Amino acid sequence: MHLDLFTLGVIGLAVGATISLSFTLLGLVLRGLPALRIWAAAFWIITLAGLAQGLDERETFLSAIVGNVLIAIANAAMLMGIAVHVRYALRWRWPLLLSGVFLVMQVAFLLAPPGQRVEALAFGGRSVVWDAWMIWVLLRRAPRDLRVSCVFTALVFGSDAVFYAMRSIVMVAPATTSQVLLATQLVTANYLFAIFCTFLVSTGFTLMLAERLTLDLRSMARTDGLTGLRNRNAVIDDGRQAVAACRAQGRTSSVLLLDLDRFKAVNDSWGHAAGDEVLRHFVKIVHAVQLPDGALLGRYGGEEFLLVLPGIDAAQAIVAAEEVRSRLAAAPAAHGELRIAVTTSIGVAGGAGLDINSLITAADAALYRAKHHGRNRVEWAGFREAQTAAV
Ligand code: GH3
Ligand code: MG
Ligand code: MG
Repeated sequence: MHLDLFTLGVIGLAVGATISLSFTLLGLVLRGLPALRIWAAAFWIITLAGLAQGLDERETFLSAIVGNVLIAIANAAMLMGIAVHVRYALRWRWPLLLSGVFLVMQVAFLLAPPGQRVEALAFGGRSVVWDAWMIWVLLRRAPRDLRVSCVFTALVFGSDAVFYAMRSIVMVAPATTSQVLLATQLVTANYLFAIFCTFLVSTGFTLMLAERLTLDLRSMARTDGLTGLRNRNAVIDDGRQAVAACRAQGRTSSVLLLDLDRFKAVNDSWGHAAGDEVLRHFVKIVHAVQLPDGALLGRYGGEEFLLVLPGIDAAQAIVAAEEVRSRLAAAPAAHGELRIAVTTSIGVAGGAGLDINSLITAADAALYRAKHHGRNRVEWAGFREAQTAAV
């Protein structure tokens, strides 16, 4: 099959336009993914660059300068899209600076052609530098949860780098075949590879978007919107695993059930917004307490919180509970000008042989007693009765 450059150019244009269009449309449907818009722009720019270079095969101003400027901007945009996607703080100025360096090089080559070998090495080197930078961000700066799609995309950029490195070597090596034939074969291979690679890069980016969406949805499904804590299911799930791991080693674990006292009265007196503020204030107080490693805090219900302390015995858990109780009693929540005093009752349960459900049930019984005995108290459910004095 004979593939002339015009046919390859048309195929490249069709593939580029299709990918660009699908990313643009995807951006209209999937909101909140800033990388998607940057990548869509990058694909349109690459397609335009292909058009500019295809329109002018003789390497004059249009293809050499316009085409290469567009390619440099597209590379910078792809890199920035990757950085934004993996939440790595990269400033636009660095990729744009690199684009500027390559542009200066291109202008210099046009004014004083350095010979085919130098040009081939510079051309290959340019692609390898961009690819290496993207691979570095994908492999070294991406969160673990995005690993699969980032590794795939890094492999695509890796094969791109290998292709351009080999292409440069072939061009620099002594000619084994006619120069004209070699040049034609290389241009054809270059076109085909570029089309193939653009398609694979778009697949990699799509996988990255899918993995990011899955990750965000999973984390939203586990997070309480008001406090940012784990929600009930998440804290029980994580707590179950942590307590089971301790149990398997014969270590004891504890849980605290913390319920704000007469919280309904806060809402009734100052409104729901004030109540929300009090809930956030309470979370800050708990976080201010030096909790043991592995502690898991979650919102168990409306104004009820669960703190799981894996590997911590009841005596230490009671100390932590007392600290939370006393700190909250001493620090009213601020809502505008208002200072709202709130207290909490806490049920504590601990033991070596208990699973998370038994611990929660026991802590709930202790919490009930704390309420019954006047609130603003810590009560312990366990092998012996223990409690701190109400203040
Ligand atoms: P007790 O000392 O016996 O625990 O009394 P309480 O008033 O704290 O308990 P009760 O169960 O009667 O009331 C809990 C209130 O918490 C009722 C509900 O409106 C309120 N609440 C639940 N979730 C939220 C929330 O997200 N924001 C606000 N502002 N209030 C909430
Ligand atoms: Mg309450
Ligand atoms: Mg309650």
